[in-house]
Amino acid sequence: MTDRQQQPHRKRTSQWRRRKSYRCDTCGREQPFCWSCPCGFMICWDCMEENFWGMTCNGITWTCPDCGAIRNFGND
Ligand SMILES: [Zn+2]
Ligand SMILES: [Zn+2]
Repeated sequence: MTDRQQQPHRKRTSQWRRRKSYRCDTCGREQPFCWSCPCGFMICWDCMEENFWGMTCNGITWTCPDCGAIRNFGND
């Protein structure tokens, strides 16, 4: 027998939304706030600032280095 595929209609549980604090993927530290991507990538302000012009080309959106998603600074 082969493994069954996971049920497609199952809701994705929000493992990462349950966290109280964020952990920056770049520096590995816990942070009170990080920008995050649906793929799970997080970056804190310190790291964002350091890499600012590598992450954004307009200061309005940033690009996730993991999956390439365009993310908004404003609402999250
Ligand atoms: Zn960081
Ligand atoms: Zn991503």
